Amino acid sequence: MKMQQINSNNYVFESSVNIGYVHEGNQGIIIDAAIDKSAIRKVVRQLEEKNLPITHLFITHAHADHYGGAKYLKESYKVKIIAPTLEAAIIKHPVLEPTYLFSGNDPLDELRNKFLEGPPIEVDLTIDEGHYEIDGFNFEAIATPGHSYNQLALGINGTLFAADSYFGQKEILKHKIPYITSVDKTINSLEKLKSYSFDGSVPGHGPYEEDYLNTVEKNIEYHKELLHKVYCIIQDKQPVSHEDIVAELCEAMKVKADQLSMFLLFRTAVTAYLTALINKGNIEHYIQQFRWMFKIKEEEGA
Ligand SMILES: [Zn+2]
Repeated sequence: MKMQQINSNNYVFESSVNIGYVHEGNQGIIIDAAIDKSAIRKVVRQLEEKNLPITHLFITHAHADHYGGAKYLKESYKVKIIAPTLEAAIIKHPVLEPTYLFSGNDPLDELRNKFLEGPPIEVDLTIDEGHYEIDGFNFEAIATPGHSYNQLALGINGTLFAADSYFGQKEILKHKIPYITSVDKTINSLEKLKSYSFDGSVPGHGPYEEDYLNTVEKNIEYHKELLHKVYCIIQDKQPVSHEDIVAELCEAMKVKADQLSMFLLFRTAVTAYLTALINKGNIEHYIQQFRWMFKIKEEEGA
């Protein structure tokens, strides 16, 4: 996890989950805390070598790979933790993630792993979208829901720390069906990012890019393609059950889902495409013989 300087104040540690850092006088804010203590320690060790201060932590959203190391930072560096509302509630009660992924049932033990549930931590300050001046840090918190309910990207000193609002171009192809909770919100968030102009952007997963708008556009296209794929599956197989649509898309995209936790992440993402098609009025859904069924909506009067 090598430290790269972006400009006079901003840094990125590129890894499977990127970590941001912004230095301001005798304060320094880490952006996202990696998955666990050992991962975030690689970051703080390099900051300490350069005598850079560690006083704050901003958590963009409540996925364990972004806040798992927060408890360590709180205990060892007494950082002030800032996080979006709602996401903060999940960070405080992390069992909520395996719970929502498991359709609200008490999660099986195998779902209570570090990839879905980090150590609980109290957030000191919760924020929503807006412009903030907090302890000398001057930043724009940009609501980017769609990947997580109230994810906030951070615009600071000319850099966008984009959280998981978009993925790097290689990374999106690797994920195949990226995790989202709403495709409409995901696309709206990306369209909104296009209206800002930053010198460069750091996604949660993928490289820092100056010309990031091209990657944002590729992400929008990718989600639209998947939406179309789901529509075509329904057209081909209708009436088709939720379970079969999930299986068809996972097969078509050749994803690897040999564990329950991975399957549940894909199931949520596929459902996000279905809810978008329902909201657009393209498909109908109903319960038949205790199965959630889908078919193409017939044109009225046709
Ligand atoms: Zn995430």
